[in-house]
Amino acid sequence: MDSILIHACCANCLLYPYEILKEHFERVMVFWYNPNIHPYQEYQKRLQAMKEAEKALNLKVIYRDTYPLEEWLQAVVFREEERCFYCYHQRLSATVQVAKRGNFTCYTTTLLYSKQQKHDTIRKIGESLGKRYGVEFLYEDFRQGWKRGIQSSQELGLYRQQYCGCIYSERDRFYPLSAKASGADLDKNTGQIYFHITEGKR
Ligand code: SF4
Repeated sequence: MDSILIHACCANCLLYPYEILKEHFERVMVFWYNPNIHPYQEYQKRLQAMKEAEKALNLKVIYRDTYPLEEWLQAVVFREEERCFYCYHQRLSATVQVAKRGNFTCYTTTLLYSKQQKHDTIRKIGESLGKRYGVEFLYEDFRQGWKRGIQSSQELGLYRQQYCGCIYSERDRFYPLSAKASGADLDKNTGQIYFHITEGKR
């Protein structure tokens, strides 16, 4: 029996991938684990939206509901330009280990629905962890269902967030001048800001 565990970065990004996966897998389970969402009130809004989607669609969801703010920030500080790699790896690593324990044949992530995320990086991390733990990583370009996912989210009346998750992405979304002010570069494709750390100057 083919089964899949899908990591959900949020309820909105889950809707289209879930629709596709349930057509192809006998067992589809969702895993919530997002220590990257800041601040706490925003985290709560997205978690609540996940619970509403769970109820509306009769989903099976495993929640790892945790908010280790210091740990997350300490892992990326002074390496802000690499923070997405850490963020992907942390969540996929947790997902593959739950998938392994639950005897799932595959795992994947709703990050592959987002047009803002780095698909090549997610795929490399997912496949590498998949080999390490013996659980196949399913790469699927869920971006093709972007509009359908938005429509489903609107029909369910789910909370729709305005930025990716971490406080850096919140700043990038609402304070675009910060790139200029700090001497960092703004990536016009992703909307993310890359900092230049000068040696010995912290
Ligand atoms: S921008 Fe998004 S993917 Fe990157 S570190 Fe922040 S929350 Fe994670």
